[in-house]
Amino acid sequence: MTIRFYNTLTSRTEEFASIEPQTVRMYSCGPTVYDFAHIGNFRSFLFADLIRRFLELAGYDVQHVMNITDVGHMTDDAVADGAGEDKMQVAAQRIKEDKKSGKVPEGAIDNPDDPYQIARYYTNAFLDDARQLGLKVAFEYPDNILHATEQIAPMQEMIARLIDRGHAYVGGDGVVYYSVESFPAYGRLSGNTLDHLHSGAGGRISEEHQAAKRHPADFMLWKPDSHHIMKWDSPWGPGYPGWHIECSVMALKRFGVDTIDIHTGGEDLIFPHHECEIAQSCGATGADYFARFWMHARFLLVEGEKMSKSKGNFYTVRDVLEGRVTGRPVHPSVLRYELLKSHYRSNMNFTVKGLQDSAGAVKRLQDFRSRCEAASSGEVAEVANSHPVIREFIDALSDDLNISAALAVVLPWAAETPADPAEALGVLREINSVLAVAPIDLELGGTAAPADDEDANVQALCRQLDEARARKDWPTADEIRKQIIDRGYNVHTGRDGTTAERPLA
Ligand code: AMP
Ligand code: ZN
Repeated sequence: MTIRFYNTLTSRTEEFASIEPQTVRMYSCGPTVYDFAHIGNFRSFLFADLIRRFLELAGYDVQHVMNITDVGHMTDDAVADGAGEDKMQVAAQRIKEDKKSGKVPEGAIDNPDDPYQIARYYTNAFLDDARQLGLKVAFEYPDNILHATEQIAPMQEMIARLIDRGHAYVGGDGVVYYSVESFPAYGRLSGNTLDHLHSGAGGRISEEHQAAKRHPADFMLWKPDSHHIMKWDSPWGPGYPGWHIECSVMALKRFGVDTIDIHTGGEDLIFPHHECEIAQSCGATGADYFARFWMHARFLLVEGEKMSKSKGNFYTVRDVLEGRVTGRPVHPSVLRYELLKSHYRSNMNFTVKGLQDSAGAVKRLQDFRSRCEAASSGEVAEVANSHPVIREFIDALSDDLNISAALAVVLPWAAETPADPAEALGVLREINSVLAVAPIDLELGGTAAPADDEDANVQALCRQLDEARARKDWPTADEIRKQIIDRGYNVHTGRDGTTAERPLA
């Protein structure tokens, strides 16, 4: 089997081979936690999850790491040297309004001027959403999801190393800058070479800041600022790190290697974020590559238009799941399917009609599973990847994650009545280890409790979850939340405690 992925670094579809046989090290840029993640963010996260789960089915041991940006992300981050205000600082103002309107429940963020409270609240919201949607790495928190604010010392070490190696300098304004001219490969990923950037960069950056730089495209690694909302001591004065340095550090530190196999993100991250990550990582290690494969998801559009707050088509995951988009709750498996079903290198168009189609497809898979379970008395046969349906499914995904072709294998198969239901359940288990919609990660073959008992059990779990939260036993609370989600319920923790409801498919 040959796996081929499109590599942004070479602008070609290339054969994928991991550096170390059978092991894949993959890093994904995660959320900025000053607000709820929206469905566009989750398109990018689930695209990474699809790569991971597919490679696992193909036999790789995949180590997946993601970051939580809880410091240093500026409002003007489309230029390399992100200017404007820190997004956390801006969020503090908005949250005061959201508390008045009830969007942020009373008591959730006692003090909106405390950035750690903001980050904690939205990190938990992200993890809740991510687990509902079956993002596997979210079940590995905190091991494989790292907070930028907990990695300040290694960031400072990398900055010091970059200064030592001649890739960084302290400007006249006291800010530590990366010198893009010190890194000839700058521009290789995005095509934004220095000549090109010379005229374009810096338009939104203050003149004083601009004058302190050796090149207009030099970007900030550390900003001394004793008035900043989050600050740490450093050899360059108390301040905070630039946004790009966190990902370089977290990826290399967590994996303990100089070059990883795959790095993912949304298309907007190609420049400046990923270009700067490469310059920092390779500048610090001397390696030729930070990641062998750079893979980017195209943006999600809503009914053909860019999702934006001003157009009123800006949806969070909970807006969709709790029924604020379609007028009725949506099962997380349906949203997962919807966000996965179009090819990652095409813009995805999110529509209510698309969501309805996804509900139909998910129902077909779930019904198929129920029929097979009834016919096989729950027995699930072991099947090998050489089974023709699994083989074709893997072959389709091996072609740069051709999800449409993969679903075109599975859906007609699931419409039939299988001759051997136990074998069909075995095949479905393998396929569902990637799709995770029938339903998410539920072990096949178990006997479900009758519906009413199930509801009572889930309500009991909600109370246990609240008790665990009250004694701040977060691992237990997370585990119980996962159990509720695995039973196919939407779960929500608000001011009055936790509630769970069975969504309409
Ligand atoms: P952020 O929280 O803004 O740092 O974004 C988290 C991830 O979501 C990044 O990989 C972004 O590239 C990605 N992203 C942001 N907006 C969209 C969108 N509309 N469609 C797909 N991915 C997006
Ligand atoms: Zn990143």
